[in-house]
Amino acid sequence: MSDTPPLLETDHLTKHFDLGRRQVVHAVDGVSLAIAEQEIVGLVGESGSGKSTYGKTVVGLHDKTAGSVRFRGELLPQAYRPADFQVHAKKMQMIFQDPYSSLNPRMTVGEVIGEGLRLHSDLSAQQVREQVAGWLKRVGLEPDHMSRYPHEFSGGQRQRIGIARALIMEPEFVVCDEPISALDVSVQAQVINLLGELKDSMGLTLLFIAHDLSMVRYVSDRMAVMYLGALVEIGPANEVFFEPKHPYTEILVGSNPEPDPKSERNRASTTIAGEIPSPVNVPEGCRFANRCPKAMEQCRHQTPELIPLADTNREVACHLY
Ligand code: ADP
Ligand code: MG
Repeated sequence: MSDTPPLLETDHLTKHFDLGRRQVVHAVDGVSLAIAEQEIVGLVGESGSGKSTYGKTVVGLHDKTAGSVRFRGELLPQAYRPADFQVHAKKMQMIFQDPYSSLNPRMTVGEVIGEGLRLHSDLSAQQVREQVAGWLKRVGLEPDHMSRYPHEFSGGQRQRIGIARALIMEPEFVVCDEPISALDVSVQAQVINLLGELKDSMGLTLLFIAHDLSMVRYVSDRMAVMYLGALVEIGPANEVFFEPKHPYTEILVGSNPEPDPKSERNRASTTIAGEIPSPVNVPEGCRFANRCPKAMEQCRHQTPELIPLADTNREVACHLY
């Protein structure tokens, strides 16, 4: 083990949403995860498992209900004030699935990409324009696209704009929240390749959120599997994909559409029985027990911890191990 702290580390990070009338959404419940410098960790799980909430809480877009986030060992604020974004914008940024759903449609592409620099740097307007022009080229667009509006671009081009908007801040750590799932299959690979090139040239560290496991396996060093707000398994991406340990991962991998000639499993036969429970009423014991084909009596009342599996690089939260 080396003495350098991980680039990014969350310790029992928790984010609950209080809906009032004693209804609390347990979106993220105690996630501990350490990401090394220049590592890519893929985060997978069904829709509603808390992936986006975790990513947003890590970068400070949500305050933390409990637990902590450290960047190179430095504790980040429990709740961000506007000045904190100024301080931390160069540490971490987030790329969204559709960066335009929440943006002002009257902002030009140049204003969208340059916004972070205008708010969080001392650069002059001319210097910001120069940087924006450079970034448009870097993501495969034209500098004179600056004066156009996002709706004039295709989905793939808009995602390139979203990538430029985040990376112009030269962050060290980036959360990519399903950056390609809204795109046509034909442009998905182009955007993935662009992210890969920028990752290499900038030395980025990434948390890559996606529900397409075969894509995550392809891009990630390690894969973390989330279920109902908690991690159930984490390990080297190929090992988790080809030899899943947790029954949930096994089913998730099995339901992945990619045909895999190496596997003897009958992928068509594996689907997840039952509904994901509501995060407002998280079941006692193992959260997955009500849908798990291998559930035992113990699973219904005792919560399994995420613990290292002997002789592997894997951590699994399951009473079978
Ligand atoms: P994923 O990204 O894995 O699909 P999310 O993090 O978006 O999951 O959501 C996790 C849970 O938290 C869901 O039940 C979702 O409805 C809930 N949730 C997310 N954001 C909010 C919010 N702002 N207020 C209340 N509930 C939320
Ligand atoms: Mg999401």
